[in-house]
Amino acid sequence: MSDFLKRIISAISSFFLTIASFFGLAAKPDLPVNHGQWLLDVPAYEAGQYCETLYDTGTGLENEVLKEPQQTSSMQLVRSTTLQDADNYAARLQREGWRQTFENRLAGLVVRAYEKDAQRVYLCFDEKTGITRVIDDCCNTVPLDRFGYSQSVPQPPVTVPDTPTEPFESEPIDPQETQINEANAPAAMPLPAHSDVVTAPAETNVPPRDFRLQPGVYQYSLPYYDSAHSDAELYAKNGMLYVIVLPDGKLVIIDGGAPHQCANANIEAFIRFLREITGRGAGTRMQIAMWYGTHCHADHIDFFYKVIHKHYRELELERVMFNYQSHKVLPYANRVDKLRNLLVKYYPDLQYVKCRTGYAFSFLDARFEILYTHEQLISAEDAALPATNANDCCSVLKLTLGGKTFLFLGDSNQLVQQELLRCYDGQMLHADVLQAAHHMYNNLTELYPVIAPQYVMCPQSMSRTVDVYPSYATFRKLVPAQRMYFADQAIYGFLPQADGRISVSYRPPVCFAYDNSGL
Ligand SMILES: [Zn+2]
Repeated sequence: MSDFLKRIISAISSFFLTIASFFGLAAKPDLPVNHGQWLLDVPAYEAGQYCETLYDTGTGLENEVLKEPQQTSSMQLVRSTTLQDADNYAARLQREGWRQTFENRLAGLVVRAYEKDAQRVYLCFDEKTGITRVIDDCCNTVPLDRFGYSQSVPQPPVTVPDTPTEPFESEPIDPQETQINEANAPAAMPLPAHSDVVTAPAETNVPPRDFRLQPGVYQYSLPYYDSAHSDAELYAKNGMLYVIVLPDGKLVIIDGGAPHQCANANIEAFIRFLREITGRGAGTRMQIAMWYGTHCHADHIDFFYKVIHKHYRELELERVMFNYQSHKVLPYANRVDKLRNLLVKYYPDLQYVKCRTGYAFSFLDARFEILYTHEQLISAEDAALPATNANDCCSVLKLTLGGKTFLFLGDSNQLVQQELLRCYDGQMLHADVLQAAHHMYNNLTELYPVIAPQYVMCPQSMSRTVDVYPSYATFRKLVPAQRMYFADQAIYGFLPQADGRISVSYRPPVCFAYDNSGL
């Protein structure tokens, strides 16, 4: 089939998928069929049985919807294979001049990555199922062994140029992104009367001024819709935003808030917060080692979008990592492509990696490990994705910092829970600090006890959650109320200490109603 014909078919199927998604119809995307032949543009895996359909794992920094992509990474699933087959394939790649850039064994998963010239391949053998996943990993701009760093060169603060290259002009919020976002929140849950809720104060032990430049994880405070903020035009139901301070003072930002959390005053308060924790004064640039996106929903993108749209000159963004599913598999809002465009425009030297299950890298002694991405769910029989919502396409990240572990689930739901429990034991899943999944809506009753956290970060309003969502009761069996930290209550910092404790710092919440200022 010619490229032109493929693009026409892809455009037509994409259009019908978008229509179907609005009516809640599950449509099967038009994915390439291999008729038993090896179609990937990397050497053939000469063992097992090929799944007849290829799975489109999506693009990286390239547009997928607003503009037809030149490159998408395809995955070939191979059934009935052995570790020996995977080893043979790895040996063949090396014989043919492919350089191994990564190897990791994560429970029963043997994960490897290779590169040759501009081509890259990801290989994951699953011991428990005998399935091998081979991905033509063409979206990454850098091999994995060059993504992390082990030495930090101190850099003097760089002054921000006085005049912007172009003035900030906000963009209107697309109704599509608000709809997808709000459709994600359960509608039937009643709001408790404000005075009914007995809230326990979170346990904190560090005064706010003492935490400057300390490595740790901050749950940034966002305004949420609840009984005290019950105008849905002014407050959002979802949204999450985390900031990691690395040992060299660089930052990692995870996700961003919902469209209606993007009041100008909230954005400016966030920039002031970044300046405070990095010690970088006004007029100098702050170094962001990485932005990591858990999944493609607006309440995990839009706040960050506006931050870089408005303040890119003050932020030196070095790396980006996300693995969004293809729009053909599950449609998403145009903001995702707009974010890609903004990243490429403002940061042309950006290093990008489409994270895959088993990938791991370090920034100094902060270790990042990906436990799950959507490719894990794909059936080796027909390459179908069983999920109907992008929440089950969340990437799951485990961070080890200062000897403590943090687990970020994003908005993971039941399918992710099953897959994590299938793949890993309690030791691998345990985290000292856990980000509660999907703003406390999803009740992962089997997974949470295995993670067995000491502290729970809840990206949600406390009054909307306590005694309302069943996940609260699940967590209360594991941790006292004082160790559940809600993002509407404060900016909490979780700071590993040399004596093995985690100090929890407190800063007042930031809560400005939406001001119609766009993104
Ligand atoms: Zn969300």
